[in-house]
Amino acid sequence: MKLSKSPWVLHYDGSSCNGCDLEILDSTTPVYDVERFGVVNTGNPKHADIFLITGGINAQNAPVVKQLYSQMPDPKVVVAVGICACDGGVFKDCYNILGGVNKVIPVDIYVPGCAVKPEAVIDGLRKAAELLDQKQKQMKKKRAAARKEG
Ligand code: SF4
Repeated sequence: MKLSKSPWVLHYDGSSCNGCDLEILDSTTPVYDVERFGVVNTGNPKHADIFLITGGINAQNAPVVKQLYSQMPDPKVVVAVGICACDGGVFKDCYNILGGVNKVIPVDIYVPGCAVKPEAVIDGLRKAAELLDQKQKQMKKKRAAARKEG
């Protein structure tokens, strides 16, 4: 995998039980060491390329997820981590759960599991980094074409 930039990640816990969030943290420990791919965890959406979300969407977190997504610069990639983020999971029939992350923002990569294993998190991040690279190249081409047209 050859990337043109180290992907910066924004990790947001929507309404998870924290199981998937612990596995995400585990992927950053020396045992799994996701940082060897250049992945940097940032708390600032304006610095983030990849939006990593756990938990389902409810009425309270829906506007937060939308706002964080809108604050991230283009191009960006969204990764739904855990079956709750994918489609609401075990909580999908609860009165307050609207569904997965795709109820409010477009999702690029789905990483199912309950809880997701660190290996799956790393695989999702690897796919996200590749997709981000493709999106960046497409954006550069579009900008160059627009410049030529004047
Ligand atoms: S997928 Fe499982 S471990 Fe992850 S947030 Fe949902 S219930 Fe918790």
